[in-house]
Amino acid sequence: MSEVAPPAPKSSCLVVGAGIIGACMAYRLARAGHSVTLIDAVGPHAGASGRSWAWINAVAADTASYVTLRRAGLDAYHRLEQELAGRLAIDWTGSIVWNSALFDPDDNYADRPGIRRVDTQEIRTLEPLLRNPPVAALYSAQDGLIDGAEAASTILAAATEAGARAIYGFHAEGLIAEGSRVSGVRGDGAELRADTTILCSGTGTAGLLAPLGLTLPTKNRAGLLVTTHPVEARLSRAIWTDTTHVKQLRDGRLLIGESAHADGALNDPEALAASMLHDAQELLPACGPLRIERYTIATRPIPGDGYPVIGPVDGMDGLYVAMMHSGMTLAAITGELASAELSGSGAQDMLAAFRPGRFPGMIAR
Ligand SMILES: Cc1cc2nc3c(=O)[nH]c(=O)nc-3n(C[C@H](O)[C@H](O)[C@H](O)COP(=O)(O)OP(=O)(O)OC[C@H]3O[C@@H](n4cnc5c(N)ncnc54)[C@H](O)[C@@H]3O)c2cc1C
Repeated sequence: MSEVAPPAPKSSCLVVGAGIIGACMAYRLARAGHSVTLIDAVGPHAGASGRSWAWINAVAADTASYVTLRRAGLDAYHRLEQELAGRLAIDWTGSIVWNSALFDPDDNYADRPGIRRVDTQEIRTLEPLLRNPPVAALYSAQDGLIDGAEAASTILAAATEAGARAIYGFHAEGLIAEGSRVSGVRGDGAELRADTTILCSGTGTAGLLAPLGLTLPTKNRAGLLVTTHPVEARLSRAIWTDTTHVKQLRDGRLLIGESAHADGALNDPEALAASMLHDAQELLPACGPLRIERYTIATRPIPGDGYPVIGPVDGMDGLYVAMMHSGMTLAAITGELASAELSGSGAQDMLAAFRPGRFPGMIAR
């Protein structure tokens, strides 16, 4: 059981990483009155957050605690959207999913609020642009779509307005560890000290922890996204099939992801992008001829068991970790819950299943 030993309110907090998680963390901590410094080796959304399919969803969860956290993730985005008064662009379109890893045709989803099974006829109504709707799919009505880079920028701006200081181009080469306490980072010939150091550093997290003897298992995975030229037709929902997933950006462009690629496919990204375009075209011929505008590749930060890692490190004071896949979905709730813990509200029950200490190597000795 992780002990959350919060610093006194209005403490100094150093957030490492300016992706969507660091943005939400800095925003919430600054709003809670802490003195917040946020650093990034490169700049805003330079990691996965700037090249994410960015589907805020309640679908991809297979345990009760994860379902609860993801649903809370959606609610937290609604709160954030209201606070930021129109600045955060989220399209709450819902999604239609028949990917076999995410949809079980024998499940009626009675225990999953906001999610239900739909048949061909209803799928056709929900998304008229589909050429061959399947016999059945899952409809997750409350899911949302954002642009990861835009969202991170907006939230970072709000964090700065709330008093956070951002330093870009600062590469944290290591954590400053004195006995059983972390008191900041060093890098670029300088030290930045704080009461609490919060690692929102995505795929850089495990490397920062390793010199402290802490092992965060990961199964990070690269993904390619294709952006098309704008199309006139308007897609009503996000679509996720066994071969592809497609959503539409506000400017009419389609963002296409691949559901799974063969080993080595990323060695030939042009060919992979072309085959992804082909799959999307087959799915949505009503969009007219699709053309690739660009493609991006980024690595998803994924903890070894697939679930988020959020919380303090047992045996190491002054250190808090927030590393996860589905970070787009979970950023707003992670910021809220972590900030509550770091502001003296005690351990948040919703995070109990996601503590770093579930990995034996993540307990400092
Ligand atoms: C192709 C793809 C599709 C995805 N689709 C979805 C989706 O549909 N829904 C969803 O919820 N999630 C999705 N994800 C996952 C989601 O994008 C990530 O979980 C999320 O972006 C992680 O955010 P982050 O802020 O933790 O990490 P990042 O965005 O990677 O940010 C980490 C930052 O830390 C900085 N950093 C790292 N090390 C250091 C250091 N030592 N010193 C200083 N700075 C450092 C980096 O420069 C970087 O800017 C997808 C990811 C990918 C790649």
